[in-house]
Amino acid sequence: MTNSACDSGRTIVGLEVHVQLQTNTKLFCGCSTLFGQPANTQVCPVCCGMPGSLPVLNSRAVDLGILATLILQGTVAPEIAFDRKQYFYPDLPKGYQISQLRFPVCHGGIVTFDNGEANEEVELAEVRIERAHLEEDAGKSLHGGEGIPDGKTAIDLNRAGTPLLEIVTRPDMNSGRQARMFLAELRTALMWMGVSDCNLQEGSLRCDANVNLEIQSGGRKVRTPIVEIKNLNSFRAVERAVEFEATRHWELFQAGDQEWLGGGKQTRGWDDGRGESFLQREKEEVADYRYMPEPDLPPVAILPQRIEELRNGLRPMPETAREQLRNRYGMSPYDARVIVAHSPEAVEYFRQVADGCGNGKLASNWIQQDVFSWLAEHGQALDGYPVAAGELGLLLVMVQRDGLNQARARDVLAEMIRGGSTAAEASGALGVVSVSESDLQEACRQVLEANPKVVSEVAEGKTQAIGPLIGQVRKRLPDANPAAIRQTILDLLGIGE
Ligand SMILES: [Zn+2]
Repeated sequence: MTNSACDSGRTIVGLEVHVQLQTNTKLFCGCSTLFGQPANTQVCPVCCGMPGSLPVLNSRAVDLGILATLILQGTVAPEIAFDRKQYFYPDLPKGYQISQLRFPVCHGGIVTFDNGEANEEVELAEVRIERAHLEEDAGKSLHGGEGIPDGKTAIDLNRAGTPLLEIVTRPDMNSGRQARMFLAELRTALMWMGVSDCNLQEGSLRCDANVNLEIQSGGRKVRTPIVEIKNLNSFRAVERAVEFEATRHWELFQAGDQEWLGGGKQTRGWDDGRGESFLQREKEEVADYRYMPEPDLPPVAILPQRIEELRNGLRPMPETAREQLRNRYGMSPYDARVIVAHSPEAVEYFRQVADGCGNGKLASNWIQQDVFSWLAEHGQALDGYPVAAGELGLLLVMVQRDGLNQARARDVLAEMIRGGSTAAEASGALGVVSVSESDLQEACRQVLEANPKVVSEVAEGKTQAIGPLIGQVRKRLPDANPAAIRQTILDLLGIGE
């Protein structure tokens, strides 16, 4: 059944998003947070919950919590404190998780995002933030895998104590797609500011979705019981799970299931393979966790001065960057979304290429089609791209000014990547721009006359001294082929190789 069957019901979605904060060490001890290490090699008495061990708060995690609050446009609490959330789970050896119930770092907030997706129009939407709080992650239960006998479960505590920020939204989203678009924006903003790498494959961003329907029925509004779908670990899963639940609620309502309608909250899991949610348990309430103030961690005052220092280090928000790209470079909303979603480095790279060639659309096309695909193929971030923005800009000048065709320009770019060369060198090496023989001879003759000392060195056999001469000729004739310059110089000096 498609979503259109729910037209007379309004879907209501709120999210609880857990992001792993980008710290080197855990929230309350000095153990490393590095992902993918051998099991139980990053543990100590504190994160294992041994008697007599005491937690020490990681100040970097607090800073990142403050930064996140600023990004979310929330209010930073003047004082934060920690609470114990008590429950038993095999991967939680302490028997409690240190979290923030009473005095979270962030109160309120709002995220504005472009909900347009593939549309060629800007469609701004807003989701309000309820709160965000710091907490530690639990370990991991490993069911099967290397060295684990069939039917047995092993515990890896490397992740136990890793700092998380839980961001709780108001129920402001009305579809799975909108939830996905909000998450994408949240992820972009947190990555841009270095709060979290939000790596979905490594579980650095996980999400629970609260979903129900508001239905107009017989002149009154009926709300179906809220379902919390736990541990959604991809944006696509969030979208599908929300749509699945909305449809399921509509069908249960149509079937007149009064027992369900009168019941309480449910916690459900999501089977991505089957595309279905399944009942896990009736929802626990806050009282079930027997929260208590954490006795080993005193409250921490957050000074206004620290907040200002962190605020001063913030980049513009992604939507501000998109707006600038649209206004200053005439980019389409779609292109601006793609460039901004990549990284702040991509925005800066784009600016340099666009300024260099004077054509935002051309720069955007080349970056999306050639640069991003190369980065994806080679698993590299933008700082690993072998071609400097200025050189790509120069190549695009050739495309526009010299009428270099796209296919040939791609050959030149490939040569620039292969040889680590400039646009002029690469096009010269490929013979893309032909320099006349007489121009080349004249330029070489002038350079030789201007450098008698180097010329005598070359004549004495120090042929490596020819390099600077080639460089000088290339300053005069950027499109000349270096190998041809070298040969011309040797010919003029009467030296054979
Ligand atoms: Zn530890």
